[in-house]
Amino acid sequence: MMNDDQLLRYSRQIMLPEFDIAGQEKLLAAKVLIIGAGGLGCPVALYLAAAGVGSLTICDYDQVDLSNLQRQIAHTTRDLNKDKVVSLTESIHALNPDTHVNAITKQLEGEELSEQVAQAAIVIECTDNFPSRFLLNRLCVQHQKPLVSGAATGFNGQVAVFNSSPECPCYNCLYSDVDEQQLSCSETGILSPITGVIGSLQATEAIKMITGIGKPLSGKLMIFDGLSMDVHTMGLAKDPECKICSL
Ligand SMILES: [Zn+2]
Repeated sequence: MMNDDQLLRYSRQIMLPEFDIAGQEKLLAAKVLIIGAGGLGCPVALYLAAAGVGSLTICDYDQVDLSNLQRQIAHTTRDLNKDKVVSLTESIHALNPDTHVNAITKQLEGEELSEQVAQAAIVIECTDNFPSRFLLNRLCVQHQKPLVSGAATGFNGQVAVFNSSPECPCYNCLYSDVDEQQLSCSETGILSPITGVIGSLQATEAIKMITGIGKPLSGKLMIFDGLSMDVHTMGLAKDPECKICSL
């Protein structure tokens, strides 16, 4: 049961008929795994905490650098050299002290990552490297957890949801034959608010899936062009030969 403070804190959300008390209670009970506390991870975590997601596990092994502050909005000038996860956790708790944060300041691998995926209701991928994305995708398929994937570079971004159902394609169906080196976006330019746009969309999809509201972007890729403000959404085909999801 929510207390009076919670009813007031989330009142603007609870007054949405699709959401109501039931939706808020689902959020408060939800456990979300966020991989990455950078450009996408910051808005994702802040919005999920503000919206009232009860428990966030956030994983990132990096520290805050001056060049991050242009877009990684949970970190401030005072947080330089701090672990990003620690800085993000402090921002989350300043925003919503009720949000439980499990802060992991190292790169999770193998069994440890598998365990975190298994415990989460939903996994949000906010990294900028492809090996992590492929690994997370494999674990999400294995544990049948929905994966909300996001990427942002330049003036553009994209969001996709893979729900790990037998009909839904996985991340590997989409990108298995792409050269990983070409796809790295960690050192390319990016306009500051683009990460906020994409991270906010990822948080929206996560909330929709947790509460069962609307239609998630499952099996679809949404591409956002910040220069023209064109948005394209396309269905993704499952690769019948996919080594990850078609066995
Ligand atoms: Zn696949």
